[in-house]
Amino acid sequence: MKSGRKLSLSGRLDAARSRLGVPLPATLAVGVALVGALAPTAFMPKAPAVSGTQASAPAPAPTDAELALRQSAPGPALVDLAALESAKPAAPSRLQPAPEPLVTTGVIPPRGTLAKSLQASGIRPATVQRIAREMESLLDFRAARAGDRYSLTRTPDGKLKEFSYATTSGKSYRIVSDGQHVVAETRGNDVVRRTARVAGLIKTTLYDAIQSLGESRQLATDYAEIFQWDVDFAHGIQRGDEFQILYERLYRVRTDGRETFVGPGRILAARYRGAEGDLAAVYFELEKGRGAYFRPDGSPMERAFLAAPLKYERVSSSFTYSRLHPILEIQRPHLGIDFVAAEGTPLWSIGEGVVVHRGWGGGFGNLVKIEHANGYVSFYSHLSRFAKGLSVGDRVRQKQVIGYVGSSGLATGPHVCFRVQKDGRFVNPASIRSRAIAVGSVAKREDFRTARETLLADLSSRSLVAVDEAL
Ligand SMILES: [Zn+2]
Repeated sequence: MKSGRKLSLSGRLDAARSRLGVPLPATLAVGVALVGALAPTAFMPKAPAVSGTQASAPAPAPTDAELALRQSAPGPALVDLAALESAKPAAPSRLQPAPEPLVTTGVIPPRGTLAKSLQASGIRPATVQRIAREMESLLDFRAARAGDRYSLTRTPDGKLKEFSYATTSGKSYRIVSDGQHVVAETRGNDVVRRTARVAGLIKTTLYDAIQSLGESRQLATDYAEIFQWDVDFAHGIQRGDEFQILYERLYRVRTDGRETFVGPGRILAARYRGAEGDLAAVYFELEKGRGAYFRPDGSPMERAFLAAPLKYERVSSSFTYSRLHPILEIQRPHLGIDFVAAEGTPLWSIGEGVVVHRGWGGGFGNLVKIEHANGYVSFYSHLSRFAKGLSVGDRVRQKQVIGYVGSSGLATGPHVCFRVQKDGRFVNPASIRSRAIAVGSVAKREDFRTARETLLADLSSRSLVAVDEAL
């Protein structure tokens, strides 16, 4: 993987080449530039990937990363718990080897909690509560996620000695008790986040454009997801559409101080300019650990309906009041959009709603209808089959799979005839995506305005080169 600086250089070379009239690569690269380094985040050395194992073992030797961290981490917060701890641990006997501590490690399973996981490993509820209380200042365990790892060390007589917890996002937390005091700390790091910027013009696809700049497909996927309510990046975009992404690049710091690029982290701000409009998005944390993308006016990116109910190959018929029907060969209106896709392609509900029809629909073949808020009903027809277990009356989420593309009913090939009714009348599905979901705007929040100004300034801090005739 190329470094950000090299990419920045290649961006300048491309700009220079375009001025000199030298042919450009697939994408007009504008470059990745590091625009600053964020505070390093914590990362715990990997615990064994086993769930709820328990063993009597000596405390593991510190890893290189831990040693590096102990040298560099700021002093931990000290919590004096002398009042809570009554007894000092007994001094080890000189005649016998010191008894070994009890070590329990585990991974939070899907839909599991730390408390359940600890209790399943035989840890007493009183100890579980003690851990929760001591960790309170560092971490809210209600935010525990599947895949988070923990390690508990107890004295031979079962008293808490050390507890550490590492989240999948790379943060780690630890409490250590010497029997009298408990030290709580958020641990240092072996991952550094640097803010970078990538920008360019799409010549073939967004994926190609981003890959040709040396970034991974993951960044393209993340970018497409931010705009999925407005732009269908499988097809809606055009040659020459422009993208800008301000994002984190993650580097692992080795013990010798050298850094290796891990992958792209979170997108902080993004812009799309092209056939589908001029759009910008800013990442903003509503509260610690709970963030979302917002438009510059403070409204959420998320909307009631997706731009399209599937990943399709092309649109074969748009919404019109008059077209020649391909089978009936008569002039009639087509009050929907026909999306062509391979048989079996999953179909998503465009928004949250309730299934009001699941069955045969005459010329529509296998048909699903979903009722949404505010008088909207969406129709998905010609399905090869329905999603397993889907029935009338079911509540579905946005992007939940409801069935699969087919050619049942009056259809010349696999496609979905997608329609939307508003108060009983068919409307053009392409024209209804301007409604935002009923999530509060953050426009009035001072911290949002500050974040927006900073991020958007960083996003467009370097001028883009002019669109070349070659594009
Ligand atoms: Zn149709």
